[in-house]
Amino acid sequence: MTQRPNALPPLAALTIPALTWNEGAPHSTAFDDVYFTRGDGRAETEHVFLGANHLPERFAAWQHARAFVIGETGFGTGLNMLCAWACFEQHAPASARLHLLSTEKFPLDQNSLIRALSAWPSLAGYSQKLCALWPEAVSGIHRLHLSERVTLDLHFGDTTERLSLLDGQVDAWFLDGFAPSKNAEMWQPELFEAMAARSRPGATFATFTCAGIVKRGLKAAGFSWQKVPGFGRKREMLAGHIDTPPADMRRQATPWFTPPTAHTANHVVVIGAGIAGCSVAAALAKRGLRVTVVERDAPGAGGSGNRQGALYVKLAAETNHQSRFYFAGMLYSQRWLNQLATDVPLNTPLWQPSGVVQLALSDKEITRQQRFMDRHSLPETVVTAQSEGLSKLVGVPINANHGLFYPQAGWVRPKLLCEQLVKHPNITLYQGEVTALHQQGNAWQIELVSGESINADQVVVANATLANQFAQTAELPLQQVRGQVSEMALPEGLQAPQRVVCAGGYVSPPVEGILTFGASFIPNNTTSNVTADDHQRNIDELRQALPDWVAQLEASGLALSAEDLKGRAAVRAASPDKSPYAGPVPKADIWQHVYAVLRKDASKVPSTQGEHYSGLWITTAHGSRGLASAPLCAEVIASRICDEPLPLEQPLVDHLHPGRRIISTLVRDQ
Ligand code: SAM
Repeated sequence: MTQRPNALPPLAALTIPALTWNEGAPHSTAFDDVYFTRGDGRAETEHVFLGANHLPERFAAWQHARAFVIGETGFGTGLNMLCAWACFEQHAPASARLHLLSTEKFPLDQNSLIRALSAWPSLAGYSQKLCALWPEAVSGIHRLHLSERVTLDLHFGDTTERLSLLDGQVDAWFLDGFAPSKNAEMWQPELFEAMAARSRPGATFATFTCAGIVKRGLKAAGFSWQKVPGFGRKREMLAGHIDTPPADMRRQATPWFTPPTAHTANHVVVIGAGIAGCSVAAALAKRGLRVTVVERDAPGAGGSGNRQGALYVKLAAETNHQSRFYFAGMLYSQRWLNQLATDVPLNTPLWQPSGVVQLALSDKEITRQQRFMDRHSLPETVVTAQSEGLSKLVGVPINANHGLFYPQAGWVRPKLLCEQLVKHPNITLYQGEVTALHQQGNAWQIELVSGESINADQVVVANATLANQFAQTAELPLQQVRGQVSEMALPEGLQAPQRVVCAGGYVSPPVEGILTFGASFIPNNTTSNVTADDHQRNIDELRQALPDWVAQLEASGLALSAEDLKGRAAVRAASPDKSPYAGPVPKADIWQHVYAVLRKDASKVPSTQGEHYSGLWITTAHGSRGLASAPLCAEVIASRICDEPLPLEQPLVDHLHPGRRIISTLVRDQ
C-alpha cells in the first residue's frame, strides 16, 4: 500500500539563535560561523549567489507571465534575498514579478535582524520593509508581500523537511547555510534530492562551498556542477544546473490532487464580492491580471456585511490539518490586514488589532485549552494562557477564570474591507447575477440573468452558499448556516470590552457607541430576516460569557430586550468537514468513475490524475471564520493560477481541495 504523504512536523516555536557581534556582523554561537562577511558581505552575495546564477541577465530577459522563483536554504539575515530583490529592481522589466522562498530553522529576532541589516545602508529601503513584516518564530510558511511585485515566503523549520513539503518549483537556488564542516546535519543527500524535485527544468544553483559532500549530493540528485572562481580569498565555489528534474513522487499516493496545468490568465472573472471573492480579486490584481468581479448586490452585502467581524480561530487541542490551516490563516490575515491598513490609511480604520480573548466557560474547555497550550509551545506574542487578570485585560468584569489570549488578533469592518480590496485599477466591479458557466476550449463564457455574458480566461466561484448552483460545481457539498448578529447602543461612559471576547459567540469592543455581539449559528436555515429568537439566543450567550458585566449594564438601566435590539442576519456556507474549499473544481463524475476502486480497497490508488475543469476555481465554505481563512485561500488560488509556489504546505493545500469529499466518501463507503 502506498503511504499517504500528509504528515506535517509539529507546530512549534523555533529557537532564536544566540549571537555575538563583531563590528556589526552577527556570528552564530551554536554553529560558530558567520552570517555574512563583514564589509564585503554584499559584494560576496552578488558574486556567489546572484552572479553565479546569472541573475542580472536572467532578470533582464524575463518575459514570462509567471514570477521568477528563487529558493534559498538558510535565510539568516536576509542579505542574499534583499540583494536579489535589489538586483531584480535594477534589471527586470516593469511587468516582471519575483517570488523568493527561503528556509530558516533558527530565525533571528526582529531586533537582531534590524541590527544586522543596518550594516547595509544601501539596502535600507528593502530591509525596512522586511523588518516591518518579520513574522513570529513559529514553524510553517509565512508569506510576506514585500512589494506589489515581490513576494517572500519564509519556510520556518528544518530546510530538508520544509523543501519536502513545498508545493512549488524553483528557477534558481541559493545553496547557503553554515559551512558543511559546521553544519553537517543540513548538507545531507535528502536536501539535494528535495531541491531537485522542486526545481524547474534548467534550474540553476550556486553555493559558496566546494565540499565533497555537496558535490556528491548534487550529482546524485541530478544536478551538474562546475567549479567557478570564488569570492575574494576563496579560490573556488560551485555553480550548476539540473536539466530534467525528477517527477514529484508525492503525487503517487494522491494522484487526484495533482494540480491542473497552468494556462493563460489575462482576464479572470470572480463571482461574488464577499471577503472570499474580494480577497481573491485583490490577490489576482496585484499579480497584474485583469479581474471582473460579478456581484448580485454590492461588495460585502452577504455574510461579509456586518458592522464588525472578529478575526479569531478555535484550534484543536491535538493539532490536525484543519487547525494548522486556520492557525496559518490567522497569522497571514493579521499581517495582511496590518499591511492593508498601513498602505491605505482610512479615516475609519478597517482593522483593529485589539486582541482576542477566548474564555473557557466549563471545566472541559479549561482542560482543552490547557492541553492545547501544553501541546504547542507557541510564542507569547501569538497566544498566552490567562487565568488571573482577565477582567483587567478585557476591561470589564470577567467571571471565567481561564482563557486564551491572542494579542495580535482583533476585529475588522468587513464591508469596508471588501470595498477597499476591489479598489484596484485592475479590478472592475460588475453588478449582475450569474446563471451559468460555459467552457469553450480554454476560455469561459459567464452568462448573466440579464441575458448578457462576459468572456474570461478563468473563473473563480466565490459566492458562498450559491457556489454549487452551477452545473460544474453541483456536486460540491455545501451546508447553509444562518447567522444573526445583535447590535445595541451603549450609553456613553459605560465600561465596555476592549478586546474581542469569544466563548459560545463573540462580542467586540463597541464601535461608534454600538456593541455588536452574536452570532447565532443555525444550520440548514436559509432565511436572512432579523428575528427576536436569534436576538434572544445572542443575549443568552452574552449573559453566559459575561454575566457580571451584563448585570452591570442592566443595573445602569439598560434593558437587554430581544424585541428592541437591532441586528443583521445572513446565510453562510459551510462544508461537511468545516474546512473551506479552495482550489480547482474537479470533474466530479469522472472522479467517481476513475476512483471507484477506492470503495473496494482504499490501498489501490489508481495512477490516473484527477481531471479538473480547466481554469475553474472555487473558494467558499468559509463559515463564520472567513476573516481567518479567505485571505490565505485567495493566495492559494492566485498562486496556482499564476503557477507560483503555494503559501501552504502541500498536505494543507490538499486539505482545502474541493475534491476531497469525493475521495473521502469513496474511501468511507468501503
Ligand atoms: N542567507 C543568509 C543571509 O543572507 O544572511 C545567511 C545564511 S547563514 C550563513 C546560515 C543560516 O542557515 C542560518 O540562519 C541558520 O540558522 C540556517 N540554518 C542552519 N541549519 C539549518 C537547517 N537545518 N534548516 C534551516 N535553516 C538552517
